[in-house]
Amino acid sequence: MCYQIAKIIIDVPTMQTDKPFSYLIPEDLAQLVAVGMRVHVPFGRSNRLMQGFIVALSDGSDETELSDLSELKAISEVLDFEPVLNSEQLALADDMRQTVFSYKISILKAMLPNLLNSSYDKVLTTADSEVAKTYFATKKEIHFSSLDTKEQAVMMKLHREGRINMRYVAQSKAHVKTEKRVSLVDKLALMNLAITSRATKRLAMKAFLETQPEETIWTYSELLVTFSRDVVTFFVSQGILRLTEVEVSRSQGYFDQVVPDEKKQLNAEQTRAYEAIIQANGGTFLLEGVTGSGKTEVYLQVIAHALAQGKTAIMLVPEISLTPLMTNRFIARFGDRVAIMHSGLSDGEKYDEWRKIVSGEAKVVVGARSAIFVPLKNIGTIIIDEEHETSYKQDSNPRYHARDVAIWRAGYQQATLVLGSATPSLETRARAQKEVYQLLHLTHRANVQAKIPEVRILDMRKHLNDQSASFSKVLLDKISEKIARQEQVVLMLNRRGYSSFIMCRDCGYVPDCPNCDISLTLHMDTKTLNCHYCGHTASIPYTCPNCQSKQIRYYGSGTQKVEEELLDLIPDARVLRMDVDTTKKKGAHEQILSRFGAGEADILLGTQMIAKGLDFPNVTLVGVINADTALNLPDFRSSERTFQLLTQVAGRAGRAEKAGEVLIQTFNPEHYAIKLAQTHDYEGFYKQEMAFRRQLNYPPYFYTVQLVISHQLEEEAVKASYEIMSLLTAQLTEHARILGPIPKPIARTHNLYHYQLLIKYRFEPNLVQVLNSVLEMTQNRAHKKLRIIIDNEPQNF
Ligand code: ADP
Ligand code: ZN
Ligand code: ZN
Repeated sequence: MCYQIAKIIIDVPTMQTDKPFSYLIPEDLAQLVAVGMRVHVPFGRSNRLMQGFIVALSDGSDETELSDLSELKAISEVLDFEPVLNSEQLALADDMRQTVFSYKISILKAMLPNLLNSSYDKVLTTADSEVAKTYFATKKEIHFSSLDTKEQAVMMKLHREGRINMRYVAQSKAHVKTEKRVSLVDKLALMNLAITSRATKRLAMKAFLETQPEETIWTYSELLVTFSRDVVTFFVSQGILRLTEVEVSRSQGYFDQVVPDEKKQLNAEQTRAYEAIIQANGGTFLLEGVTGSGKTEVYLQVIAHALAQGKTAIMLVPEISLTPLMTNRFIARFGDRVAIMHSGLSDGEKYDEWRKIVSGEAKVVVGARSAIFVPLKNIGTIIIDEEHETSYKQDSNPRYHARDVAIWRAGYQQATLVLGSATPSLETRARAQKEVYQLLHLTHRANVQAKIPEVRILDMRKHLNDQSASFSKVLLDKISEKIARQEQVVLMLNRRGYSSFIMCRDCGYVPDCPNCDISLTLHMDTKTLNCHYCGHTASIPYTCPNCQSKQIRYYGSGTQKVEEELLDLIPDARVLRMDVDTTKKKGAHEQILSRFGAGEADILLGTQMIAKGLDFPNVTLVGVINADTALNLPDFRSSERTFQLLTQVAGRAGRAEKAGEVLIQTFNPEHYAIKLAQTHDYEGFYKQEMAFRRQLNYPPYFYTVQLVISHQLEEEAVKASYEIMSLLTAQLTEHARILGPIPKPIARTHNLYHYQLLIKYRFEPNLVQVLNSVLEMTQNRAHKKLRIIIDNEPQNF
């Protein structure tokens, strides 16, 4: 068969369609192109070069509308030497298109490492003297894109024969790695600096700097080991220290220090779970095990078993759990057979891991959500740890849930899927109840000395403290008691549905984002007000723009504010703070945890990101500063989230011999999510929450689809929303219920007004077809400025 035509899906942001375009294959390349390769093709009237994917090849006999095939344009460059998408991925994309309502191109792109989605050129080199003489002449390297199709074909053949090497380089600027340095520039100013005796941290830094010669240079992170960011910033602001950023070379260093992790003898419950999983041939298990019950140990041994059978494994963890602790355990057990995929890696590093997978060198892939797409062959088992985590659902296009993709891939490859959690999502647990999944229980902690911690609820209405807005006296005393015993404390501030802002005390003025219907959040480290939706930044006003008063104060309990409060109340506590601000830099998260693990601090204070995966034996107290902020959100899952979060964070206490205690501060002590978290009663929570979901026709009793309709003009958004509602009402059957349109809880962001519609259904035969026609509405000229998001099973409202 002679293929002359390639069917190509093209990435055109302004004109999206799933319909492939036909292009001629240049004769020279005819033998070399294959389905799953990326190409550059001329597109539109301007013949702009666009990237696309070959999804099919044909001999041209189906091009019945053309009188002559030469009317077609030709491919101008093949971007890959081998297909980057395999047949499994292409089949998956086809099926995902039925449940994920965004164009196929977004699904195909999600399956690839970023580097392959952006403009990188291929640089060819050779170690073969004959090839060098014939094709390279005097050149050391050749840029592939500079070749014509005939020359490209020659190079692709040589590459297949292993006679030339290829690497990708960014076409724009090269990615460089930089490092922050701090230098001591003005010792005289340091000597003259007066600091009040109350500012003990500043005094400590001053004393330290006085012993150092002028022009001493430290790395910023090195200084942060001993001094807080705020203190360093203070000395910078005084002109005593100077902060600079210098370029450094990229170091490998990922697998540098691996702490051995011994295989454990499984206990009776673990053994039962392990045996059931390895004896299965496909199917899905729910491994429901209390925190610390040894789920990870079961995963590790299930994977080891798969490897022993010559198979491979994917292990998904929520992004935040990709701590050195977790990755270390996998590398310690499986060495360089492990590929790690997480957002902290650069595009180049991710591509390298992906290559390890394609080449078959990597047998175990550990990664966050998108790792579910890796082209791993011969999969024996897929594991999703903390399966209830919302981070498994992508909240931009394509809006897929990694769990659904995992179910599909396990089916395709006849692999066994294991979903693990201490607090399974109601959807998963309900399926286990119906025996669609097989339920396995781990009911006690694996470390026999470790007990499930005692949880106390503090009703903040009765424990209000004049000294502090955030801490009750009971919690403060407990913290001091633990520090005195040289034990460690984890404090969590629930940031969901909460933020700090500034307000004028005299007139109540709160600065809002000009683009979004929301107040600006205060960031003390950058001394700015930021919008969490669109990124708008403003400086902090010192007088009220509304009434000129100077009584501008900040409100809310940002982690920085709570840290300051804590240091006022317990001045000699050593506190490490972990939140979005302190973990922006690559490796910062790891660094904070390893310092806490090494005992460099008494207290780890952070947002929800501290709730997961931590396993520090010396932590005997976990305090939740505000349990209930998320309960007020207009989201039917807010109780489930609160219960899951409290159970998770409570699980951080008493993980070894020392008994753990948990104190939960709340204004809603009677709420069932809080009361049942106190007794670690998942079963009770499941029953009560299921009753609520049934009564209100929510998942898992009903499926949901959310449509968000946005426009710069509010009346256009409203008009389109009603238009879509009529369309849905007319074309869906009586099985579907349509709610709305109503404005989104935050009605305006990015200068767009948002309205939402919610479809609830148990069975709806017309759903896919109707939603696709809604999706296509934006392709209509009249609706060009309209944005429609269709979110199947939305996780956030
Ligand atoms: P989970 O993933 O359920 O939170 P882990 O697998 O992290 O639990 O186990 C919690 C702790 O118990 C870890 O320190 C782990 O090394 C230890 N552990 C797990 N299984 C066993 C076992 N069978 N015997 C002894 N210790 C174990
Ligand atoms: Zn004012
Ligand atoms: Zn904004």
